[in-house]
Amino acid sequence: MIRTRIAPSPTGFLHLGTARTALYSWAFAKHHGGKFVLRIEDTDVARSTQDSVDQILASMKWLGLDYDEGPIYQMQRLDRYQAVIDQLIANGRAYRCYSTPAELDVVREAKKARGEKPLYDNRWRPEAGKPLPAVPCDDTGKPLPFVVRFKNPAEGDVTWNDLVKGEITINNREIDDLIIQRTDGIPTYNFAVVVDDWDMQISHVLRGDEHINNTPWQINIFNALGAPLPQFGHCPVILGDDGQKLSKRRGAVSVTAYEDNGYLPEAMLNYLARLGWSHGDEELFTSEQMVSWFDGTHLSKSPAQWDPAKLLWMNAQYMKQADNARLAGLVAEQLAKRSITPTPVRTEPALVSLSNICSLFKDRCETTVALADWSSVFYAEPDRSTDSYKAEYAQHVTEATKPAIALLLIKLQALSDMAWDKAGIAAAIKETLAETGLKMPLLAMPVRMLVAGKAQTPAVDAMLALFDKETILERLNNV
Ligand code: GLU
Repeated sequence: MIRTRIAPSPTGFLHLGTARTALYSWAFAKHHGGKFVLRIEDTDVARSTQDSVDQILASMKWLGLDYDEGPIYQMQRLDRYQAVIDQLIANGRAYRCYSTPAELDVVREAKKARGEKPLYDNRWRPEAGKPLPAVPCDDTGKPLPFVVRFKNPAEGDVTWNDLVKGEITINNREIDDLIIQRTDGIPTYNFAVVVDDWDMQISHVLRGDEHINNTPWQINIFNALGAPLPQFGHCPVILGDDGQKLSKRRGAVSVTAYEDNGYLPEAMLNYLARLGWSHGDEELFTSEQMVSWFDGTHLSKSPAQWDPAKLLWMNAQYMKQADNARLAGLVAEQLAKRSITPTPVRTEPALVSLSNICSLFKDRCETTVALADWSSVFYAEPDRSTDSYKAEYAQHVTEATKPAIALLLIKLQALSDMAWDKAGIAAAIKETLAETGLKMPLLAMPVRMLVAGKAQTPAVDAMLALFDKETILERLNNV
């Protein structure tokens, strides 16, 4: 049985890198008919927050990465970790270490000064025939606080065949006895992760390559527990456009930010999928297609670069295909942020709702925010205060075009309510052009400016037909 997991720490939002490994883990489990588990690694009590948990769960939901088990919270499993630690101590595979942080600092500095790796000095590590220091106690005779360390094998190599990077080998002399439980009794990441992956029968661990250095410890702990090893795959970091690791300072790195900025989850998934994995030349695909292709091969060894322009392009492709009623719902959320409630634009002679507006404008919008920009002119006056508006206005609404606009206004006014549709409006425009001798763009551009605040819009008759007559007359009359 293939079982994968994603194990975010709730110390912030769901990072794009974590979302990507979540997607890979999800797709891999689904591809094999396995299970995908969500685990919340909340043992960093000082930095973990409920707000982060909520954001992570919301982002997973938004992306549609449904999990078969979880969320499982590590802080609810402390008893289990304690039992495993007790067992490791009893078997001589872990031990109590009473070295204080100050003592450890001294050791570290001394090693550094000698040009050695600042590893633990094994002071409390039990070894056959080696005397251990006396346990330090307070005035009442109570032992001082201690941490628990894993007794790492002193010799030999740890080797694994990484699903992404190939064979990796690290010698045990490079790593020291890891702290697996802090003085407050809370286990550390490298220990809890092993107990959990074991208990949850995880078969494949896909995660970011910042964890490669942790893997030898984890493998040694698996072995000490007699637990079967999962297969590991470490995905390279995502780089920003400056070649540095993608980080907050360099732009949006949370899934939530993209949701807020009007991206569609299917575009986000498609983009994340391609960022470090490929299936031939396939560029645009559904998550179902990805699941059918994603067998754990073709994961890229080299870091991928985050390309906002490509993501935007991809989003635009999905915008075009998106269902109008669904877009209307998303655009309504964006409009709500601007205190606009998209009630029907008109009801006679035919109902015009936000769906109709989305249908006409979605082809030219890369995000639902852009679509909300367009939609907003149906509910409120366009912003006529910007310099770009003023410049375009001066260019298009000229003394030469004003009489034609006035004539069109009269013709539109004369249209009966029942004739207020695309055909009726097109006829009024045609007559105006014939009577004034103007070419279409010379009339269409200023009309667009006056009605929608922009010189470029979809076909002018189609756009006017979505407004109610009163609004059009009022805006043209502004001239
Ligand atoms: N909590 C770890 C992180 O967020 C999980 C690493 C892992 O997948 O093992 O980086």
